[in-house]
Amino acid sequence: MTIIHHQIIECFLFALGAAVGSFLNVCVHRLPARLSVFHPPSRCPGCQKRIACRDNVPILGWLALRGRCRSCRMPISSRYPAVELLTGLFFAAVYWLQIARPAIDVLDGGLLRHATLVGATQLLGCMLLTLTLIRLDSTVSPGKLKPMNIPPRDG
Ligand SMILES: [Zn+2]
Repeated sequence: MTIIHHQIIECFLFALGAAVGSFLNVCVHRLPARLSVFHPPSRCPGCQKRIACRDNVPILGWLALRGRCRSCRMPISSRYPAVELLTGLFFAAVYWLQIARPAIDVLDGGLLRHATLVGATQLLGCMLLTLTLIRLDSTVSPGKLKPMNIPPRDG
């Protein structure tokens, strides 16, 4: 594979990681409350309007809305795009460190082994990030930090 192939894969993995980060935001918000992470779709807690698909695009949706609900202009925590960005960078970085940088030869059988390692590392990183944010939310007093009074952006 050439460097351009690796860069294309890294871009794809960044986008995939950002989407996974969006889902992690939902998990962080809903799991401690024992709510489903799949239903109901995300709504603004201010105006109760469902969040449109175009506003749910990781990172870009938040930027396009300038961090506010499209309907009622209620602020949306910057933690949502931050988690999406971090997860996207993490996915791309793990690929780069495990496959692109060492220039794994696809034909030598090492790709599957390294791809498995990349996937396992990404999964572990996502679990650690989710648990860390849940723990942070449960230990910070509501008056000091108010990140989760904002709608989850899961579609
Ligand atoms: Zn709203």
